Amino acid sequence: MVKSILYLLIFIILSVSVSLSQTYYSSVAEIERDIQAEQFKRLKTDYKSDTNVNVTYYKLYLNVTYNPDYLNGEVSIISKSRVNNLSGIFYDLSNNLTIDSVISGNQRLMFSHLMDRVNISLASTVNSGDDITLIIYYRGVPVPTGFGSFIFGSHNNEPSIWNLSEPFGSSDWFPCKNVPSDKADSSDMWLRCADGLTAVSNGTLTGVENNSDGTHTFKWHNSYPIANYLISLAISNYAQYNSFFRYSLNDSMPVVNYIYPENLESLKPQLDKTISMLGLFSAKYGLYPFINEKYGHAEFGRNAGMEHQTISSMGAFFDNILAHELTHQWFGDMITCRNWENIWLNEGFATYGEALYQENTFGRTAYDEFIKFRFSDSKRAIGSVYVQDVNSVEQIFSSDRSYAKGCSVLHMLRGITGDSVFFSIIRKYAAYTSIAYKTAVTEDFQNVAENVYGSDLNYFFNEWIYGENYPKYNVSWEVANTGTSQYRASVKILQDVNSNPSFFSMPMKIKITTLVGDTVFSVFNNMQLQTFDFDLSSRPLNFKIDPYNFILKDVRGENILPVNFILYQNYPNPFNPSTTISYQLGRPSFVKIRIYDLLGKEISVLVNQKQREGDHRADFIPAGLSSGIYFYSIEAKDPEETNLLFSKSGKMLYVK
Ligand SMILES: [Zn+2]
Repeated sequence: MVKSILYLLIFIILSVSVSLSQTYYSSVAEIERDIQAEQFKRLKTDYKSDTNVNVTYYKLYLNVTYNPDYLNGEVSIISKSRVNNLSGIFYDLSNNLTIDSVISGNQRLMFSHLMDRVNISLASTVNSGDDITLIIYYRGVPVPTGFGSFIFGSHNNEPSIWNLSEPFGSSDWFPCKNVPSDKADSSDMWLRCADGLTAVSNGTLTGVENNSDGTHTFKWHNSYPIANYLISLAISNYAQYNSFFRYSLNDSMPVVNYIYPENLESLKPQLDKTISMLGLFSAKYGLYPFINEKYGHAEFGRNAGMEHQTISSMGAFFDNILAHELTHQWFGDMITCRNWENIWLNEGFATYGEALYQENTFGRTAYDEFIKFRFSDSKRAIGSVYVQDVNSVEQIFSSDRSYAKGCSVLHMLRGITGDSVFFSIIRKYAAYTSIAYKTAVTEDFQNVAENVYGSDLNYFFNEWIYGENYPKYNVSWEVANTGTSQYRASVKILQDVNSNPSFFSMPMKIKITTLVGDTVFSVFNNMQLQTFDFDLSSRPLNFKIDPYNFILKDVRGENILPVNFILYQNYPNPFNPSTTISYQLGRPSFVKIRIYDLLGKEISVLVNQKQREGDHRADFIPAGLSSGIYFYSIEAKDPEETNLLFSKSGKMLYVK
């Protein structure tokens, strides 16, 4: 799910500029602040609803009227008992709604409706594995919570009735087990509304019935497992815009868009992008998971996107939000986070889907730029990616942590494993039989990642999912001239002490630039203070850690020169007509460079002055000398010329 007024503004501004998406690197992850957090206090971190039953089926038959706003509901639920001798169960339903009766077969069941729960006495006890089928009749005007769990809204003086239940709002408008862990195997949604309106929901439209009383009933059937918060409705005077996703030579799937009529023409170019995105993401994650049904968008009254299964509710239509909600169909809908603590498995993946869209549409530079922005968001994340306090909707949907840092984790994993292993991990995860169409926690993803990668990644998930913050590297280096054209660069990395973990262990690339080009080394940085030595056959000039920006980090000290003094071999040597003597000063110095002959007689003074620290060179052009061996020497004193800091000499051959 995503939301922000800001993005709509950006979208409008960029729409009139030349290139919309190329310059648009913002994620859609920002979330609004109008959360009625009080509404969620009753939900505890480990809320499990009724653990004695597993829901297998929901049928919502809702009569929705507008002006006056009202909801009459008839919801059938089938659950399987998980225990023996079960005599009573409960479902979650807001006490703002009135329950008229609970029916099983042709029996009315005893019930009470307290504290947003309907407690039901079963007609007879049931045993483990038995089905419990009942219908709850209820009515009222749902009171929305969260992001707008059930809204009687309007657009252009026409009704627009919609829901956005995530995370806790389903029970504001229908009885259910209000937890993401218990997915129904399938669901139906029958929506009765006034003539002229179109009612949209999950799955396939199996029929539209004219009730000849000024209403129609739209019958939607969803044949895939579904989490309660992904069950949706959207009712308005929609205009339809349909196309097809052709996913093989002979097969195609409908792509349906239900759009406010006044917006349809202007949105068509954006909606058309859905087809290529379905192709892209099917290639990256595996075939679209609800291929037997549909994908589509239903416009709704919130400036947001919500990944309702097979039919995302949309209030904005820019590229990244389309990519984000579509990616959720795999990660969020097909694989649902088992609890809200693990929401990054939904939102981090969906945000990473935006990055993949950028990469595959506009190139690697666009991807890198997108990641750069997510990195800077991630640095603001407070607490771990794993949400510690799921009573706080703000924490669950923190754009810095669940969205940006979740996305950063996937980018870092890609850096560790390399592209081909990374995408293999993603596809295997999406296809894993114990995960696909079910639920997952971090450890499920970690297991798949380790199996495919073939190596332990515990350090990685511990640090980045359960740990906090990110590494801050203080780096420096020294270079030693270890022989003729032999150098040793020693790169020292000191991490700031962090709360948890105290320091980060990460595989890391270090790029060393030498006179003849760049060399990239791989190291594993797993100590608070660690020095890595690199032997080189060309003079090192500079170094950069993590040159491809795969690690969320701060670096201090890069691009500063080695702190030691070096006199290099002159070049070329032998020489004619001239040669260059290069040297490096560890600190500002008063420098003398002299040339001598074989007898020790001074021939020339090339340098005699104060110089800054760093790299320097002096050119020697012999005049009137004969061929032979000569010497050059450096003498570096402190700028006051009192203490000698460094002295060394070298031998060179002048050939006429
Ligand atoms: Zn999302």
